[in-house]
Amino acid sequence: MRIVRLLLMFSAAVAAACALRAERMQTVCRGDTVIEIDAGEDQEMVDWAKNTLLPVVTNWYPRIARMLRSPGYVAPKRVSIRFIEGDGVAWTVGDAITLNTRWARGELNREAPGAIVHELAHVVQAYGRNGRKGPPGWVTEGVADWVRWMNYEKQPVRDAIYAAAKGHRYDESYRPTAAFLDFCERRYSRVGGTSGNASSGFVVRLNAAAREGTYSDDFWTQNCDGRTLAEVAGQWQASYCAALTPSNLCACDAQSPDRRLPAAPDARLREVERGVVSP
Ligand SMILES: [Zn+2]
Repeated sequence: MRIVRLLLMFSAAVAAACALRAERMQTVCRGDTVIEIDAGEDQEMVDWAKNTLLPVVTNWYPRIARMLRSPGYVAPKRVSIRFIEGDGVAWTVGDAITLNTRWARGELNREAPGAIVHELAHVVQAYGRNGRKGPPGWVTEGVADWVRWMNYEKQPVRDAIYAAAKGHRYDESYRPTAAFLDFCERRYSRVGGTSGNASSGFVVRLNAAAREGTYSDDFWTQNCDGRTLAEVAGQWQASYCAALTPSNLCACDAQSPDRRLPAAPDARLREVERGVVSP
């Protein structure tokens, strides 16, 4: 009798735990892909996961898989995102993303969704898989930030990132490299290759080489009309006037090519330029 009562109590505890788990877990199947978010037990984070993050992930994961496609490669069909109280911003191992809620709580409507987009790019990249040689770290982080800043974020933010990268090195990773890759995408995509949406896009080719383990310095001469990486980087730094969208920035740059471009007037853009840490 006592054992039965204990068993009943145990069953009730399991049921309660499942109910809690169902509340904190958001699982969505889109086509044959399963996206699972475990937002922990903080109600604010659970609500944000359901109302803000889940729509971003279900919309952008398949788009990123298309942007970073390569022949014969299929992006993971299962992605998990787990929230923990920890350090740093967010990180990815295989198809498992972890988000630090201590950082994210203050960034729910600012940097946090974009940080997850960056991590989703890492899930799709899968560089170094099956023992293949991975590319340099700046390529890995640059492609992930290109996906985020030059595709997910809005046009004014892209322009601010682009402007702020002037005078930076192409291999600084993250946003400077994202701006460099965006220049390459504009300049060295073949016909129909803008925005990484066609197989002839520059970033599509860079990603394919990085994923297949064939990336080397030769990639640049083979894909940039015979120019070396250093020569393409020089073109990038010389290109700012032509590439930027806002006409006032172009005019300013043309008159004083050695000066950094002025900050865009919007507070949000100044914030972006100031350099909030990107994962
Ligand atoms: Zn990263």
